[in-house]
Amino acid sequence: MQKLRFAPSPTGQLHLGSARTAIFNWLYARHTGGKFVLRIEDTDLSRSQEEYTASIIKDMKWMGMDYDEFYKQSERFDIYKSYIDKLVAEGKAYYCNCTRDDLVKRNQARGIYDEVTKYDGYCRDRNVQPGNGTVVRVNVGPERDIIFKDVVKGRIAINTKELDDFVLWKSDGSPTYNFAVVIDDSLMGITTILRGEDHISNTAKQIILYEYLGFSIPTFGHLPMVFDTDRTPLSKRKGSTNIEYYRKQGILPEALLNYIARLGWSHGNDEIFMLEDLIRVFDITHLNKSNAVYDEKKMIWVNSKH
Ligand code: GLU
Repeated sequence: MQKLRFAPSPTGQLHLGSARTAIFNWLYARHTGGKFVLRIEDTDLSRSQEEYTASIIKDMKWMGMDYDEFYKQSERFDIYKSYIDKLVAEGKAYYCNCTRDDLVKRNQARGIYDEVTKYDGYCRDRNVQPGNGTVVRVNVGPERDIIFKDVVKGRIAINTKELDDFVLWKSDGSPTYNFAVVIDDSLMGITTILRGEDHISNTAKQIILYEYLGFSIPTFGHLPMVFDTDRTPLSKRKGSTNIEYYRKQGILPEALLNYIARLGWSHGNDEIFMLEDLIRVFDITHLNKSNAVYDEKKMIWVNSKH
């Protein structure tokens, strides 16, 4: 059985780009008779806000998206910590007490000026003990290609030298996104993950963790981004068009859902579908590979090639 999820961080309202991710995952779950999980990724306690969680749920409901399971990552820190301890005990992760300044200095001494905080593995074998200001890093191990088959983009290979020993656990006692997401997607039994292509290098990092933890690796599909006419991605920080805006304009939820679903998925038929029709005809093998551009002023998609 397929199990899909939508995993928003509650740091802003649901906008067209993230709503599209939610819709595709939801449609695929419903099309296959599978399950759909809504997981609020609120590990960043300083940026997450309860009011955004409420507004994301409200917008999803308004568009007709329901869910079978609901989680909040902020309630699961003990679970994440137990897996940190396991990885450290097995030598797959280690404590590190390097400061940002240490990294910058060492990198500059090596002639690295662009990625000044790239980690050089300094604490890998130093047996640093947990304490004030320590983080936990994964030991990515010897250089190799991480290869996966993406349902949208085909074969993807990323060499581990592009990834450093990235942080799993922060000094404030909270997990990082890449760590918590792997624990959750595994424990929740997620089979397919559709998300924006800005997550491709994260997927490579996550595959390393799946392997280290002995979890089976889900199927991934990376969706092209939704761009503004200035060719930068729609994002919460820019205040890009929110679903709430359309709701307040009196647009019918089904029309908006159709409109967003057609952005990046083609069916060849331009009439508006009822929700049941969309579920019936939705097919992940027809997801588009090219980026879509949204003209906020004219409220139209441009350059949305099929
Ligand atoms: N919380 C992440 C985000 O909002 C989820 C990414 C993912 O789907 O893994 O970007």
